[in-house]
Amino acid sequence: MANIELKGLSKSYGHTTVLDALNLSIANGDFVTIVGPSGCGKSTLLRMIAGLDTISSGHLFFDGKIVNDIAPKERGVAMVFQSYALYPHLSVYDNVAFGLKGRMPKPALREKVLDVLERLQLSKLAKRLPKQLSGGQRQRVAIARAISREPGVMLFDEPLSNLDAGLRNQTRLEIARLHRAVGSTTIYVTHDQAEAMTLSDKIVLLNGGRIEQFGSPLDIYRRPANRFVAEFIGSPKINMLQKNEALLLFAATPSASDIGALGDVVLGLRAHELEAVPLDGASLKARVSVVEEYGDRAYIYVETEKFNTLLVMEMTAMEDVKVGDVVGLAPRVPEPLVFDLESGARLEKGQAA
Ligand code: ADP
Repeated sequence: MANIELKGLSKSYGHTTVLDALNLSIANGDFVTIVGPSGCGKSTLLRMIAGLDTISSGHLFFDGKIVNDIAPKERGVAMVFQSYALYPHLSVYDNVAFGLKGRMPKPALREKVLDVLERLQLSKLAKRLPKQLSGGQRQRVAIARAISREPGVMLFDEPLSNLDAGLRNQTRLEIARLHRAVGSTTIYVTHDQAEAMTLSDKIVLLNGGRIEQFGSPLDIYRRPANRFVAEFIGSPKINMLQKNEALLLFAATPSASDIGALGDVVLGLRAHELEAVPLDGASLKARVSVVEEYGDRAYIYVETEKFNTLLVMEMTAMEDVKVGDVVGLAPRVPEPLVFDLESGARLEKGQAA
């Protein structure tokens, strides 16, 4: 295990800065997900931590020691990629055993490999070649190979993106379970905010080579640093209301005067924080334009009559609305999230005049 620290870590290609002076501290044994839109620098950061990409400036520390110039092999890291990179001519057993050869006596090695195969439910497939496996099984072999060496640091680069939805969920559970069992400091790259939310102790939200926010999943969800974070995390995407819309929505609540006192802001409410109410009395009205039915719940997309904003709200299976219906809208929470219109920064209460 290792703790990992980035101090002013940068990466440039020619005049293009891909990662811009990142500072980050990852605790021993934590599971940290790096998430962000395509091209924001996630893979580059992971490869720098692995030692596969050079560091342009700044420092990378493992357990307090600078490792900028330490070779990948010497760093005690294991990496699992999106493509499985297995040896095609070796069996599952030998693929896992390969990295352990010469590190321990044969009986211990055999015991180790069998144990890892068992934990990843690969025992029955030990004699097969990679080409005789499904994509999910191959990815499990790649993970088995990585964890068999009990690395201090495990790195995953979008390991589930080649799997179908069912297998993705199953392998996601396995990775969470394994992390608990093995305890290696784990850094996991994904563009999928749901993976980030469900797997991690902490999330790094990267955007354009900078860290937008570093925090626990719930912290990031409930207290997003800015509008970008609020809109990236959470599904469906958070609703953003103009101030005049929010004033109507909250008209009947004590928050109305607070909202009225705000300067130039936009206000955020998640789908489950909005509800449909009878038309009479509601001061914000909307027309239903799309109904996404999930059986246990539905997402209702409505267009506000006055402002033409598309909002989404979550409904239980009991409520019955149809496309074309006009409904009243009301908040389920006492206050919305407040973001500065210009900078996008989230404003705490009393900060927003
Ligand atoms: P992500 O993993 O978040 O999709 P990457 O780390 O792969 O993003 O890439 C970040 C940025 O760095 C992208 O804009 C990409 O075009 C650029 N980049 C990556 N590798 C190189 C390279 N070898 N030369 C120039 N630009 C690169």
